[in-house]
Amino acid sequence: MIVILRSDIGDQSEEYQQALDYLSKLPGITARAHKVQGTQQELTEIYLIGDTKTLSAEEVSAVPGVERVIRISEEYRILGRHRDEQRTSGFEYNGVLFSQGTLNVFAGLCAVDTPEHVELMLKALRDHGQVCTRMGAYKPRTNPYSFQGHGKSCLPYVFEQAGKYGIKVVAMEVTHESHVDEIQEGLEQTGQATGVMLQIGTRNTQNFELLKAVGRQQAFPVLLKRGFGITLNESLNAAEYLASEGNSRVIFCLRGVKTNMGDPHRNLVDFSHVPVLKRLTRMPVCVDPSHSVGTRERSPDGLYDLMHATAQGVAAGANMVLVDFHPAPAKALVDGPQAMLLSELAWFLEDVALARDCYEKRQALAEAHRLA
Ligand code: PEP
Ligand code: MN
Repeated sequence: MIVILRSDIGDQSEEYQQALDYLSKLPGITARAHKVQGTQQELTEIYLIGDTKTLSAEEVSAVPGVERVIRISEEYRILGRHRDEQRTSGFEYNGVLFSQGTLNVFAGLCAVDTPEHVELMLKALRDHGQVCTRMGAYKPRTNPYSFQGHGKSCLPYVFEQAGKYGIKVVAMEVTHESHVDEIQEGLEQTGQATGVMLQIGTRNTQNFELLKAVGRQQAFPVLLKRGFGITLNESLNAAEYLASEGNSRVIFCLRGVKTNMGDPHRNLVDFSHVPVLKRLTRMPVCVDPSHSVGTRERSPDGLYDLMHATAQGVAAGANMVLVDFHPAPAKALVDGPQAMLLSELAWFLEDVALARDCYEKRQALAEAHRLA
C-alpha cells in the first residue's frame, strides 16, 4: 500500500511525524518514507510493507496529513503506475523537464574520441537549438582489445565544451560505481558546466551492485537500458532496484533485443513497447534507434531505417530519443557505421518533430473518440 501525504506538509511538521508514527505502529507493517520529486512539487510517499491486506484503506486515508492511499496490486512498487492516473511522474533536471508528456532528443557521440569531434558535435547541437547530448567515455566492449573509451581523462573537455555550447544534460554510460565519482569530480573541475544523466547499458541491466550504487546517489538521474536478452519484466525490476535505493529519477530506454530474428538489423526493434511501459510505469520512455537498428541502410523512399524506427517510437509517444551522430563516422572509434552525419541533424530533428506532431494528433483523436 502506498500512502501519499499532502504536498503542503513538510517532513519537520508535527502532522508528518504523527502520520509516520501511526503507520509505523500498525502491527506487522514496516513504513518507509520516500521523497518523490515531481515536475511541480515534492511529495512524500510512505510505502507500507508487510501484511497490508487486512488494512482498511478508508481508515488509513483518514489519518491527518494523508491525501490518499493506493493499493498496490502489481510489481514495481515505486516506479509502477498501479492503475493510478494521478501519481506524479517525471522530474526536472538542470532546467530540462523529463516526463511521460515531454520529448527530448539526445543526439551525440557513441564514444568520445577527439576534442575536435566533441566540439563539432556540440556546436552543431547548439546551432540546432538542442540542449541535450550523449557522450560515451566508458565503453563496455565485446572485445577486450577494442577501444574502451577515454574514461575520466576526457571528462574535463567534454563538460567544459558542453557548457560552452549551452548543453544542459549529457547522457553518459557508467560501467562501474567509481565512474560516478569521476564524473562528479569532472563536473566540479569545470564549475558544474553542465549536467549528466548516468546511463546503465544493456550489458549491465542486471548488474545489481551497480544498480544499487547508482540508485543510492541522488545527484544524477539515470537512463536505464532494457536488457537485451531478458524479459521486459526483468528489466523493469532492474529499474525498481534504482528506485528502491532512493533514486526514482529514472528513464527507461528501449534499444532492441538480441535475436537473429531482427536481421539484418543489429537487434529486433522493440518500440511497440513504448505504450506498454507508460501503462505499467510512471517512467519517461526513451528509444535508442541507433543501437536497435545499427546500420545506415535506407529504403527506396529515401529514409534511413533508423529514422523510420525513431518515428515509430515517437509516434507511439516516446519521451526521449538517444541517437548516434558523428562529424566523421569513418574516423569514429565505436559504432561509426550506424552514426548519422552532422549534415543530417536538421533533417533528423524535423522528422522527429513530424512524428511528435503525429503522436499529438493521434492522442487528440483518441480523446475525441473516448468522449464520443
Ligand atoms: C550505448 O548507448 O552506447 C550502448 C553501448 O548501448 P547499449 O547498452 O544499448 O548497447
Ligand atoms: Mn554504441
